Amino acid sequence: MNTIQQNLLHIKSTLPEHVTLVAVSKTKPVPDLMEAYNAGQRIFGENKIQEMADKWEQMPKDIEWHMIGHVQTNKVKYMAPFVSLIHGVDSLKLLEEINKQAKKSNRIIDCLLQIYIAEEESKFGLDKEELSALLTSPILEEMKNIRIVGLMGMATFTDNQNQIKKEFTHLKTIFDGLNDTVGSRRDALQCISTPKTLSMGMSGDYQLAISCGSTMVRIGSSIFGGR
Ligand SMILES: *Cc1c(COP(=O)(O)O)cnc(C)c1O
Repeated sequence: MNTIQQNLLHIKSTLPEHVTLVAVSKTKPVPDLMEAYNAGQRIFGENKIQEMADKWEQMPKDIEWHMIGHVQTNKVKYMAPFVSLIHGVDSLKLLEEINKQAKKSNRIIDCLLQIYIAEEESKFGLDKEELSALLTSPILEEMKNIRIVGLMGMATFTDNQNQIKKEFTHLKTIFDGLNDTVGSRRDALQCISTPKTLSMGMSGDYQLAISCGSTMVRIGSSIFGGR
């Protein structure tokens, strides 16, 4: 069996320079994360806020912590002091809470809007209409402590490469259209940056995701082993 360090270095060697690697360390113990840290990894992704906060306390402070799971509004306060990027934002209500908690911590928190692209009931995210509704909401203009920097999506869990490719391509099209959706309101909207991050691709499909335009991949089991 390969070590975490070997897995990590191998994956990094296959990624184009413009693609950021999030090492998904959910359920894994701190010594496993430290092995990746000692091999140079500084971005870790977790899907439970409490677990992420525990690891943040125990680990070096130059780590960027990404929340990749579904976020419950009442738990935002536990990560607001330190989280670097929240991938799974799927409502205005959640954005408002992130903005409120970020303000308390005197921070601006980067967020990705999660788009629903899979054919699976169990997955979260906004559809195209909900995305436009969110981006045109007047409430956004008052949000000074969040910054929407791009989109995130998860493809259907299937072996059908054509279907996954179709879903990733769909997300990329929405991503490319974001500037137009925001349009002339950009100047009024401090909280939306030029879209730069497209988070798509996991252990099983990240190469395909990159070929479809991903700029950030979230890889867990191929680095740390199965869960
Ligand atoms: C667990 C998880 C991943 C990583 O999955 P692997 O198949 O282990 O690479 C990526 N994204 C999200 C949202 C996850 O929950």
